[in-house]
Amino acid sequence: MEWFIGIVFFIYGLIFGSFYNVVGLRVPINTFLSQRNSYCYTCKRKLSWSELIPVVSYIIQKGKCKGCGSPISIIYPVIELATGLLFTVTYLFFGLSFQTIFGLLLVSMIVIVTVSDIAYQKIPNKILLFFLPIFLILKFFLLDTDWVSSILGAACAFLLVGIIIYVTKGGMGIGDLKYFTLFGLLFGWQLFLLLFLLSTLYGAVINGILLSLGKVTRKTKVPFGPYIGASAITVLYLGRSIIEWYLSLL
Ligand SMILES: [Zn+2]
Repeated sequence: MEWFIGIVFFIYGLIFGSFYNVVGLRVPINTFLSQRNSYCYTCKRKLSWSELIPVVSYIIQKGKCKGCGSPISIIYPVIELATGLLFTVTYLFFGLSFQTIFGLLLVSMIVIVTVSDIAYQKIPNKILLFFLPIFLILKFFLLDTDWVSSILGAACAFLLVGIIIYVTKGGMGIGDLKYFTLFGLLFGWQLFLLLFLLSTLYGAVINGILLSLGKVTRKTKVPFGPYIGASAITVLYLGRSIIEWYLSLL
């Protein structure tokens, strides 16, 4: 039964992931409400239903537009697949609980922000502000929360990242500052510090790999949002265990 529900979560994740691609690409340029249909960005042709099946359409069409043959970014099916997997993992970790609802919403926001940050190097305020009140309600009324730790987490994030922005003159952006601060508030100060460490670690490792493969140069501005998101997801699932393990070593 658990696996059956897991698969249902996966399928919903694929469908939502496909929607999040659209949200992430349209909200920053204010076309989310004005455009109804999906279309090819090259030939402007409206896409039919058979071209909109998550992951499957991409594979059948071999990653090309049916009309003009121009390549479709691999980002789309990757985002769909990732959302499907993350929905399933969230369920497998937390079962049918409020924690799962919180996890699904967190994954959703992170996926949308990742799409925007990769496409436009932007973490849209609108997305963060849409999710913030929902998180606060869930966090403070339904899940037990340490208020003091949350406020310390947000303050810690704001100061730490603020100082980094000031010292590095733009190594991180204001979007990253807001994003980190939101996670500080949601996770509390201990988990925030872990999240911060993980994001710099992920950033260093992945950028190192991209540099050595020649995919980026030292001058390329690589968006930091995806690393913050990946760290937040790690903390969501494993944060408490990592901290307990660390404390057991002391
Ligand atoms: Zn086309």
